[in-house]
Amino acid sequence: MKPQHYKTVVIGGGIVGAGIFRDLALHGVDTLLIEKKDFSSQTSERSSKMLHGGIRYLENLDFALVFEALHEKNLWLKLTPHLAQEVPFYLPVFKDAKRPLWMIRLGMFLYDFLSSFENSPHQIKSAQDVHALIPDLKTSGLAGAGVYYDGIMDDAKITLEVIYDALKENCAHAMTYTEVTTVTKVHDKNIIHCKNVLTGKVFTVTCDQVVYALGPFTDRFLNSIPMYNWQNVLLPSKGSHLWISNKDLPLKYPIVITTNDDRVIFVIPHGDQILVGTTEVAFNGDYFDVKPSEAEIDYLLSALNDYFPKLGLSHNHILSSFAGIRPLVKENGDGNRGKTSREHKIFQPMSDTYVIAGGKYTTFRVMGQDITREICHKFGRSYNQDISKQILRQRSVLLPFDWKVPTKEELIRICETEGPQTFLDLVVRRLSIPSRKIWELRAAGVDFNQYFMTNLNDLKKYLVISEEDIKNFI
Ligand SMILES: Cc1cc2nc3c(=O)[nH]c(=O)nc-3n(C[C@H](O)[C@H](O)[C@H](O)COP(=O)(O)OP(=O)(O)OC[C@H]3O[C@@H](n4cnc5c(N)ncnc54)[C@H](O)[C@@H]3O)c2cc1C
Repeated sequence: MKPQHYKTVVIGGGIVGAGIFRDLALHGVDTLLIEKKDFSSQTSERSSKMLHGGIRYLENLDFALVFEALHEKNLWLKLTPHLAQEVPFYLPVFKDAKRPLWMIRLGMFLYDFLSSFENSPHQIKSAQDVHALIPDLKTSGLAGAGVYYDGIMDDAKITLEVIYDALKENCAHAMTYTEVTTVTKVHDKNIIHCKNVLTGKVFTVTCDQVVYALGPFTDRFLNSIPMYNWQNVLLPSKGSHLWISNKDLPLKYPIVITTNDDRVIFVIPHGDQILVGTTEVAFNGDYFDVKPSEAEIDYLLSALNDYFPKLGLSHNHILSSFAGIRPLVKENGDGNRGKTSREHKIFQPMSDTYVIAGGKYTTFRVMGQDITREICHKFGRSYNQDISKQILRQRSVLLPFDWKVPTKEELIRICETEGPQTFLDLVVRRLSIPSRKIWELRAAGVDFNQYFMTNLNDLKKYLVISEEDIKNFI
């Protein structure tokens, strides 16, 4: 990081900020990305980890969004095959269902059509086929299943690789653990007041253009800056997930569960674990400290037990859990979070200030393009909307679908090339280990404490890490 003037500062290092940062960098715009914690440590590592068109948004007639998301999904499946995979999603249909099989078939045809038939084609399976493939699924009233194709991904790692790619350009700079405390203006310069949250050091940088990509933090931050006269735009929606071992919930392919209150829950295998989620509830607490409530955990377990009654799943089967806040943009309606559109919106409280809110992980590349186009033109550069379709130039050292216990050399290489600053950055996002129980499941026999204690002195050269951090990792 150089304390200086930048043409553009992007605040927020989740997937949306990362995408805007990369697009500006690929167009040669001198840009600084500032993130309060680690890159991708908030909403962008707490998604349902699907690259998807959003089949359920067809019911809301959100065809434009589904079309865009399907094309982006299929693009990123090609660009990051080491971080994302196409898989069949099984949607079981029961005889008393609100949506019978013919309706599911029609919806899935429309889904494939909107992908310009780039999706692997949907299928309809008989009850016998479904039972043979998913023997633990309840059979009473089972009519069959629709099968459609979407992607599963490592959300944190895609964000990280988008940022690594931007940093290949000389005009791109990025800082983690740097909180923007406020923004002021002197004449036409924006003064970004920063605080390094690890050292406490405060400093400022200046810039011509500011982009806020703060996800759910948008309203709270912008309300703290009087010159913007900000009116709240978000309808924050908390969503929680559980990780369960494949041994306790044996599944080969993702299942889509429809709940009694007509919501959808995804049950998705990721290697030896199953991801179960999500909920959709209001939340007013600290957005940097979001956890699933007991009620949400019970809700997810109850939906699982309804579909898999033989398995008797309980709290004891949970390996780990996490929650995040969807940064939905408010609409004039009844405030139903499930029905609120996943479209993004761009606001401009000042001519040199852009705020982006809403959207989905899957559509991150196209979300900020109206902003990046305008900024490029302001700096006299022509804009190429396809430049961000080129492949990412730096792969993560450790890949999510090919997990193994990293060697000491790999740990050092991660520290030298992937920018972790704390122990959690290394373990949670660079090694994709969200809990000690998941380490035990994957690393079979390799003691977590001993492994990191053995490597402690080497890691101390790069990271804020202590024996306590290792002991306290749950
Ligand atoms: C439960 C759930 C499931 C989802 N599932 C999917 C899915 O399967 N597929 C999909 O496409 N989408 C999904 N989404 C939506 C998607 O995850 C989000 O739209 C996306 O991750 C939002 O990214 P973001 O960059 O806007 O926000 P964030 O990732 O939250 O990034 C904002 C960043 O701003 C930083 N920040 C805040 N304040 C400051 C400050 N003062 N200074 C500096 N930095 C600051 C934060 O630390 C944070 O890293 C899901 C969302 C949720 C909550």
